[in-house]
Amino acid sequence: MSNWPQPFVSTVSHWQATNRGRKSLYNHNKEAELPTEVIDYVIVGAGMAGSTMAYHLTRPGIADGKSVIVLEAKDLASGATGRNGGHCAPYSFGSLTLLTDPLNEGGAGLTIEEAIEVIDFEKRVLAYVTETVEGEGWDVDFWKGEKVEVRISEVAKKQMANDYAKWIAARENNPRLKGTEPEWFWSEDADEAKKATRIHNAIAYSKGPAGSVHPHKLATAYMKAAIATGQADLYSYSPVTSATKSDGLWQLAVHGKGDIKARNVIFCTNAHTPHLFEGSPIAEYLVPFQAQAANVTPPLSFSGSKYLNNSYSIEDGPYLIFTPDSGIVLGLHHRTAHDLGVMTKQELYVDDDAYVAEGISKWLKDYCKNNFAEWGPEAPGEGAMRIWAGMLCATKDTLPLVGEVPGKDGMWMAAGFHGHGMARIALVTKYLAKLITTNEWDEGLPQTFKLSAERFERGKVAPPFITEEERHGGLANKFMSVVGLNTSTVKSVVR
Ligand SMILES: Cc1cc2nc3c(=O)[nH]c(=O)nc-3n(C[C@H](O)[C@H](O)[C@H](O)COP(=O)(O)OP(=O)(O)OC[C@H]3O[C@@H](n4cnc5c(N)ncnc54)[C@H](O)[C@@H]3O)c2cc1C
Repeated sequence: MSNWPQPFVSTVSHWQATNRGRKSLYNHNKEAELPTEVIDYVIVGAGMAGSTMAYHLTRPGIADGKSVIVLEAKDLASGATGRNGGHCAPYSFGSLTLLTDPLNEGGAGLTIEEAIEVIDFEKRVLAYVTETVEGEGWDVDFWKGEKVEVRISEVAKKQMANDYAKWIAARENNPRLKGTEPEWFWSEDADEAKKATRIHNAIAYSKGPAGSVHPHKLATAYMKAAIATGQADLYSYSPVTSATKSDGLWQLAVHGKGDIKARNVIFCTNAHTPHLFEGSPIAEYLVPFQAQAANVTPPLSFSGSKYLNNSYSIEDGPYLIFTPDSGIVLGLHHRTAHDLGVMTKQELYVDDDAYVAEGISKWLKDYCKNNFAEWGPEAPGEGAMRIWAGMLCATKDTLPLVGEVPGKDGMWMAAGFHGHGMARIALVTKYLAKLITTNEWDEGLPQTFKLSAERFERGKVAPPFITEEERHGGLANKFMSVVGLNTSTVKSVVR
């Protein structure tokens, strides 16, 4: 994916397979020539970040009369956005451990006040996506309801209970949240947990706001709304291979299509960003990694009036949503898969979305029937229907890089969503559009997301997300060798 032409065929997700018709943006401007005039804002990448970026820049009063072009290496939402779990699920109090653990222990290294701001930000993202989808009247299979977080071990239950107590106390110390109704409920009653979650070995659970959506349709809707203004357009199959500054403008080379000149360039390239910034601290800070998901058609025991009521995140298990009509989508984090013994160490680092690990595929296929009480037998045509892979982007402190690239005037970035972009991107890009057009950081965007040289420095103490051994022993080398490259010969394209 990081090189062109791509030497492999990507897997196809449930979302990509179910948005192929004339209303989609597949092949949009694939053969068209690039504009020759100087463009005000060129966005690189048309996932959720690039599509929402184009949407926000084209809202009235933001950049009136300015031009916006989106260059996408493949098709819209061909990256993580079109391959995810569809879960738009804000962090619960259970994220406090990750957010406040020190950087050198793999946490985000935030103070409790900063962590509370991140949790609150994600809650606002869900509210904002809801408002946009409803306000625009988009048909994107949006569901808003509640997620249950299921705990099956005493250790995890204790940790959640500690986080809950910390969260309740911290909210009372936050002037904005003090006295407001907590949006999360927590129960340590095992019988209630089993009944409420339908997971046979649940011993505790939390419940709070969450949403799900068809992410391919959502990104398409944002992009179409941007294009409809006449101010923006998308060019598919237009991979940017270099960005150089000359005469005060960014000159972007587009593989097979020539150059385009821009006053501002905004990288929304997530997992593919480090390849573009080889040799810069950005390449150290961002780490691509792969994940896998599946779509499961439930048997009649979980259909109609017996369909799931909640989305899920399950200890030592998957995150899981249900689509309105075509069953469940569930995914498993690679580290969990490795710790469960269903994937090999070599499979932890794979640099393409063509490969599916057999062990995870089997585990995803079996999960529902092994864990949901009274799931029962699956008829032919029920069970796991489609399995796919996608590339995500971890960061040293688990938080995204948002803002101007240090030392690169007019070059901006929104990347590094750490597997959690659906809960962050829509407002990240709204506030980034404000920053780019007014030079003002909106106080609604956590300061801890700000891209800065200090953050790169601080991040140096963080343990590697993927160890050197995993990276070099991993299956990425299989891909690199196909194209006759290895990681040390890939050069930065941003100069
Ligand atoms: C299996 C899986 C499950 C997930 N589940 C969830 C979930 O349930 N909830 C959640 O919040 N998050 C989830 N995620 C993560 C989520 O999908 C991402 O955080 C989010 O989609 C990132 O959006 P993005 O626009 O930044 O990146 P992407 O969607 O990856 O978009 C980047 C785009 O940039 C393009 N590009 C890259 N380089 C170039 C270049 N040089 N020139 C032109 N174009 C380029 C790519 O082709 C791609 O289309 C999951 C991800 C995966 C893979």
